[in-house]
Amino acid sequence: MTQVLPARVTLVGAGPGDPECLTLKAVRAIAMADVLLVDDLVSEAVLQYARTDARVVYVGKRGGCASTPQAFIDRLMVQQARQGLRVVRLKGGDPFVFGRAGEEIESLRAHGIEVEVINGITAGLAAATALQTSLTHRQHAHGVVFITGHGSPGQPATDWPLLAHTAHVLRLTLVIYMGIARVAELQRGLCSGLAPNTPVAIVQHASQPEQRHVVVPLDGLTAAVDRHGLGSPSIIIVGDVLRGLAEIAHHGRAAGPAQQRHAA
Ligand code: SAH
Repeated sequence: MTQVLPARVTLVGAGPGDPECLTLKAVRAIAMADVLLVDDLVSEAVLQYARTDARVVYVGKRGGCASTPQAFIDRLMVQQARQGLRVVRLKGGDPFVFGRAGEEIESLRAHGIEVEVINGITAGLAAATALQTSLTHRQHAHGVVFITGHGSPGQPATDWPLLAHTAHVLRLTLVIYMGIARVAELQRGLCSGLAPNTPVAIVQHASQPEQRHVVVPLDGLTAAVDRHGLGSPSIIIVGDVLRGLAEIAHHGRAAGPAQQRHAA
């Protein structure tokens, strides 16, 4: 008698890019997959663990195409899982941080598909690691806010002055995803509640060979992004936990590879 496996999809966090950052669970799930649906920002290096005969479907914006509509992705996952295939949905970073995992889980469950989720290292944490800076600190920061700089269509925009004021009063570090295209708006809004010399770090391609970062005062954010040509994917970290780094940057001491590259 053949055993019928329940239709199932595994949402896997692919981490920030460095394949060494994958969890063992993620590597195992990738290696067992018959089909992998791969998001934008998942590094190619992660796919080295996939079977050579696995079907890989890119559903991000690669190749200049508009990203695949969510409904199509949902349909494909349901269809493939119902055929008894092992389906892995690979997402950059962690599926539960700006990864739309909630929507996908809802849709899969509504179709009677079992879901497993495997965590990945989120880009905000990889950025902190790139800076070798703790996001919390007993003296400087009592908590962390992970927030999108992009917002959602049809939703009210983030009240940056209110967030800055709250971060100041409650001593919170801000970790901003998808913010690089809106740095002027971020700088303006955040300067209403935080001191203009609050340190800010922009970390691009965290954990990857192209990784680089810049540390500047908040009122120099936009100018720094322009000057260094920083683009996506980048994480912007704001807060006093970066004070030590800001001093290093200010005095030009101990410039890491990132700063050396900018100087070249
Ligand atoms: N689920 C992902 C986030 C997806 S939103 C996670 O947990 O990391 C996409 C945003 O993540 C990008 O716009 C950028 O802000 C950030 N990002 C993803 N990978 C990155 C990387 N390697 N370095 C810096 N930022 C990254």
